[in-house]
Amino acid sequence: MTKVFTIASGKGGTGKTMTTANLGTALALLGKRTIILDADIGMANLGLVLGLEKSKITLHEVLAGKADIQQAIYELPTGLRVVPSGISLQGFQNADPDRLQFVMSKLVMDADYVLIDAPAGISKDGVIPLAIADEVLLVVNPELSSLADSVKIKVLTEMVGGAVGGVVLNRASSEKTMLTSQKIGQIMGAEVLEVIPEDASVRRAAAFKTPVVVMYPDSPAAKGFKRLAARIAGTK
Ligand code: ADP
Ligand code: MG
Repeated sequence: MTKVFTIASGKGGTGKTMTTANLGTALALLGKRTIILDADIGMANLGLVLGLEKSKITLHEVLAGKADIQQAIYELPTGLRVVPSGISLQGFQNADPDRLQFVMSKLVMDADYVLIDAPAGISKDGVIPLAIADEVLLVVNPELSSLADSVKIKVLTEMVGGAVGGVVLNRASSEKTMLTSQKIGQIMGAEVLEVIPEDASVRRAAAFKTPVVVMYPDSPAAKGFKRLAARIAGTK
């Protein structure tokens, strides 16, 4: 059975795109047939962090009814398949988020895992990915404002019939003032599945349009993403 995860958060910049790219790559490296899809159709950057920003056919064209989803899937050397979104405003305006569910019904036929990189916030294109996933993973940073906004996404997910599978605490530091993972779990009312530290390797790898799990596989963040993949794939 294919499992669909939506990677979501209340705020922008918590690390959804990095989590989608690296968790997806780590699952592919475990031999799982994995597709990641950029549903942040307004502020798309999944393609950018993976070197696919020049792709002519993207989710924009698919959601505009101008291309088939198969034409918008790009395979990387790791075996990970990526559906990027376009970066033009015009493409965003022409894309109809209501078509996403139909697109997903095609993708799940050919994958063990599909990860959806969701936009921040509670716009229509953000709500659909919450409803169509088997599990929503909430990417939070160890700050109260990040948690408060993600609690809202959790409530919204439940309102639209979706389910939160857990929390990924990203950009964690060892500062004494930092909220503990246990406290964050309590505030969120969901299990913290993995803690990914603040790690400059993430940005360094992104500058080379390469996932950190490939470029710096022994860095603390890469190890965190790989533990999360192993947990999801049941190999841990
Ligand atoms: P989102 O998709 O939620 O808006 P991104 O994944 O684009 O967030 O991440 C926002 C910024 O934070 C990027 O510049 C990214 O490189 C950086 N970042 C994400 N996770 C980490 C981390 N664990 N350590 C250091 N920098 C990170
Ligand atoms: Mg993003």
